[in-house]
Amino acid sequence: MTKKPTAFGQSDIGNKRERNEDSFHAGEYLFVVADGMGGHKAGHVASNMTIDLLDDRIESISADPGAALKESVAIANHEIFVRSTSEAKLSGMGTTVTAVFLQPGKITVAQVGDSRAYRYRDGKLTQLTTDHSLVQTMVDSGEITQEQAESHSHRFILTRALGIEPTVEVASFEEGVSDEDRFLLCSDGLTNVLSDDTISEVLSSLDDEEAVRRLIELTKDGGAPDNVTAVVITIPTGSPDSSA
Ligand code: MN
Repeated sequence: MTKKPTAFGQSDIGNKRERNEDSFHAGEYLFVVADGMGGHKAGHVASNMTIDLLDDRIESISADPGAALKESVAIANHEIFVRSTSEAKLSGMGTTVTAVFLQPGKITVAQVGDSRAYRYRDGKLTQLTTDHSLVQTMVDSGEITQEQAESHSHRFILTRALGIEPTVEVASFEEGVSDEDRFLLCSDGLTNVLSDDTISEVLSSLDDEEAVRRLIELTKDGGAPDNVTAVVITIPTGSPDSSA
């Protein structure tokens, strides 16, 4: 009997915001978190456009998922940019995107912005993505420490986002997948509130839906100043999608 990977996603407005501008997708093989920005409903339009476009193009993602995902993200960037610059009420909208495409034995990740992908394996949580943010640039150059970055006043400033320029540089990489690996995709509303230890503890004991609900609940207990979104994916033991 073949066991399929399982997944669950949820998004919450949080405690302080008037709107939820995050969007997510948890399909069979494609998983996405997008964190929109912009006035009125524009942020949600941008994050939603990105999810819809990636979901629509998923059929064409097969032989070379890295290239296909990158191309799809580039197209989303351009479509958001065009609408942002031609429709007054959508002016200045943008979004992050972190997308995972699952194939037998591997995942392909494409990312722009500061929504993160983590892997939880053998009790250890590893951040797979690197934020496209000003504070990450400062950490990389040795100007500030990772610890200082977490409370830095500039931590919300992105160095890359979809829809801001006509073209965008998309980060993309592959990772091997093993039995019982778990993956978390989330918006910064979660990672700005919860520590790695807290995330690890939740992923160590709860199934996908319970874990997502618990992560969001803990974020809200911690103040949830921003929208909060989480998608958890689990590779079962003996999965055809594992290389182990
Ligand atoms: Mn956010």
